[in-house]
Amino acid sequence: MSGPLLQVRDLHVSHRIGRRSLPAVRGMDLDVAPGEVVALVGESGSGKSSAVRGITQLIRPERGSVLLDGTDLVGLRGKALRRARRDIQMVFQDPYSSLDPSMSVAELIGEPLIVHTAQGRAERRRTAVEMLEMVGLRAEHADRYPHEFSGGQRQRIAIARALVLRPKLVVADEAVSALDVSSQNQVLALLQELIAELGVACLFITHDLAVVRQIADRVAVMYLGTLVEQGPADVLFDAPQHPYTRALLSAAPVADPVVQRSRQRVRLTGELPDPMNPPTGCVFSSRCPDAIARCHEEAPADRRPRPDSSVACHLVEADPALQPSLP
Ligand code: SF4
Repeated sequence: MSGPLLQVRDLHVSHRIGRRSLPAVRGMDLDVAPGEVVALVGESGSGKSSAVRGITQLIRPERGSVLLDGTDLVGLRGKALRRARRDIQMVFQDPYSSLDPSMSVAELIGEPLIVHTAQGRAERRRTAVEMLEMVGLRAEHADRYPHEFSGGQRQRIAIARALVLRPKLVVADEAVSALDVSSQNQVLALLQELIAELGVACLFITHDLAVVRQIADRVAVMYLGTLVEQGPADVLFDAPQHPYTRALLSAAPVADPVVQRSRQRVRLTGELPDPMNPPTGCVFSSRCPDAIARCHEEAPADRRPRPDSSVACHLVEADPALQPSLP
């Protein structure tokens, strides 16, 4: 396959609160190539989790398309949606609530096989044991229950369950955020190894930039329901273009104390605006240290400073050869 595995276009997701509709994602465009790890980052309340729920159809998007391997998930119902979902599996933040405590580990890992394959009980158990070993646990763990494991081990079980159907895309929503640093590193290393070994793509949602550095090929930065910058991870970390990306990176601690001391912190003033009442013009205009008059009147289009990057900011210089901007 040559094109992207996942192609999200003009995705709009809203939440109903009583009779009101709260916009959470406003026109997201995002691609994930086969085997690629894309991190979706932003503050709490930026719309990352709503975007994921819209992409995986846990929430019906208001508008837009989500092509997975050429099939638009938006509009699929019943059996057709279940079939398409086989290729897109999730790992959630909290393995306590995502793993049914009344099921044994073998049952939990084997459950997706009941829905999507013709495997019988014995074969499912064999597959579950293989998966357990793949994620660094042992065959004797198969008959235990989730509460008998540590947080890191439970997340390994959740990963085994997500990969048992050999999906094309794994969506990890803050999958290591609840773990201590040592378990976090182990689970990330495991995830990276399995992604490479199985050739699966990953959309990794996190607020933690240290984790992004460790795992991502590309990064997409989200603010108030909008993607403000996208690009290869090394480019974005070395030379962030959008003022919001610069502020996020400047607030993240770095391991080297000399670099840490010499860094200039970009301080953001004010709170994340009310999504019901976003600023006019650029979504970041009410907090941007670089805002000019135009920013309060006109929303910036995506500009492409490089073929593999896009930035929604009036002040970013686009490469003239690359305009008009990406769809
Ligand atoms: Fe800041 Fe203006 Fe760029 Fe928005 S368009 S990020 S307000 S400089």
